[in-house]
Amino acid sequence: CGIVAYIGHREACPIILKGLHRLEYRGYDSAGVALLNGSLEVYKKKGKVAELEAFLQDKDTQAQIGMGHTRWATHGEPNDSNAHPHYSTSERIAIIHNGIIENYAALKEHLQQQGHTFHSDTDTEVFVNLIEEIQKQQKCSLEEAVRLALHEVVGAYAIVVLSRDEPNQLIAARKGSPLVIGVGKDEYFLASDATPIIEYTNEVIYVNDYEIAVIKNGNLEIRSKEDVQQTPYIQKLEMAL
Ligand code: GLU
Repeated sequence: CGIVAYIGHREACPIILKGLHRLEYRGYDSAGVALLNGSLEVYKKKGKVAELEAFLQDKDTQAQIGMGHTRWATHGEPNDSNAHPHYSTSERIAIIHNGIIENYAALKEHLQQQGHTFHSDTDTEVFVNLIEEIQKQQKCSLEEAVRLALHEVVGAYAIVVLSRDEPNQLIAARKGSPLVIGVGKDEYFLASDATPIIEYTNEVIYVNDYEIAVIKNGNLEIRSKEDVQQTPYIQKLEMAL
């Protein structure tokens, strides 16, 4: 039910965990983070963000790119494996998702026939495997695979995707679920609302439905689902702190 992501020059994990705390008011049953630092590490736990933090105590969480999620289960009971982030069969691509993929059952059956394996009962895990399958078949960039996947899923989503093969990059998209980008100096923040962002920057972009945001090598680009470049509208928030 909550999304936080970071890409820049600071330690991502503390920013993400603090952000998840700020989104706790939205309600949730589990929490998790994915961190990209050469390898892709995913840690997730049923329960409170505090339980995830305790679990991370003895883990190497150093990374300057990462994302975190608090889940409000819609498909699959609240447990560790149904918690987000979810990763693809090859364990190279990870996703966090707020919302519901309505046609997940048909997509899942198709993906299983193509050899994808699933570790959860969620609709979300289908999304990340669909992206992987498209990338494999089309031999395209992650960005293009996400865009094409959005044409196949029916439902509501705010997502953030990252890949071990294309580091230094975060891709986000939305339809129906909220998503805000915080624009810092050589750093970007993504969140479900501005509360995790305002202590770092007051410049925000509210992503519109059917838009895809690609943050790559320090640059942000917003494109439509039809791959037309959009001019982002940067809003200045009143700092309420
Ligand atoms: N439908 C997804 C799930 O059940 C996402 C739920 C959410 O928005 O937190 O895992």
